[in-house]
Amino acid sequence: ARERLVRLRHTPSVTRDAQQVALLANIEQPQDTQAAVRAGAVGVGLFRTEFLFMGRGGRLPDEEEQFQAYLQAVQGMQGLPVTIRSIDVGADKPLDKGWREHSLNPALGLRAIRWSLSEPAMFRAQLRAVLRVAGHGKVKLLFPMLGHEAQIRQTLAQLNQARAELDARGIAYGMPELGAMIEVPAAALMVREFLPYFDFLSIGTNDLIQYCLAIDRADEAVAHLYDPLHPAVLRLVASVIAEGQRQGKEVTVCGEMAGDVGMTRLLLGLGLRSFSMHPSQILAVKQEILRADIRVLAPWAAQVAASSDPAALMALGEP
Ligand code: PEP
Ligand code: MG
Repeated sequence: ARERLVRLRHTPSVTRDAQQVALLANIEQPQDTQAAVRAGAVGVGLFRTEFLFMGRGGRLPDEEEQFQAYLQAVQGMQGLPVTIRSIDVGADKPLDKGWREHSLNPALGLRAIRWSLSEPAMFRAQLRAVLRVAGHGKVKLLFPMLGHEAQIRQTLAQLNQARAELDARGIAYGMPELGAMIEVPAAALMVREFLPYFDFLSIGTNDLIQYCLAIDRADEAVAHLYDPLHPAVLRLVASVIAEGQRQGKEVTVCGEMAGDVGMTRLLLGLGLRSFSMHPSQILAVKQEILRADIRVLAPWAAQVAASSDPAALMALGEP
């Protein structure tokens, strides 16, 4: 079966009704781009840059070291776009030993963009590295865990200041497309207001489920309650995809849901045309896409997302 999948590597991911679907890779290190290219990814949809910062005993990578790492990823993708997410430390991804001791509820604490905005010098070093590499290829910049419009304005102000710092040093850079992770229910509910600030969105379903259902995604004791098919989760996901369509902006799903072949048809039916996942899932999801007919899936998916028991409807069989 694996061999049959490998033959799909160069097959365009197009549905039976001729809808193009982008299959992108999630990576943690620049060298992961090899697996992404091998799987036929059409770009990197999520570069989790925090892995460059973790386990280094407090000595964090400076602008130059980050620039080299991002450049390696861009070159590794051979001209395909690379979406670099600003550092998402905290909670399940502690910067170093002892991190968790700072907070009783680390998932609700100083993580992701909150941490970046609390360490502006560190944040701007990362932004300068990304801006510089944007002069060398197709680079997109993604911000994790935004929840307040004020955070968006603060983030964009930091980006402007990073540009001014490069200008002052006479260093060349490019302007990446800007995107927001939608992974806090507040952001999903405010997406109409958030979207005009950005070129694209990426739905982080791992955290969106965690925060929507109040289930710590790292706590085994409540793992049985972690439910991607909870109707509240599906309604949030469906509404974000729909708002992206209304405003003509690209929406990607980059959480585990995107690589789950059991979810592919539902997400296609809800209007999703961009999926980012671990490279090992790409060919299996592509196989689902090649079999799908969105004209049939769309009315069914709308029904599932409106249902109070989506899992039961899906178990009845998919069109
Ligand atoms: C997510 O939350 O779905 C996501 C993609 O980000 P991470 O898993 O890195 O938190
Ligand atoms: Mg997340």
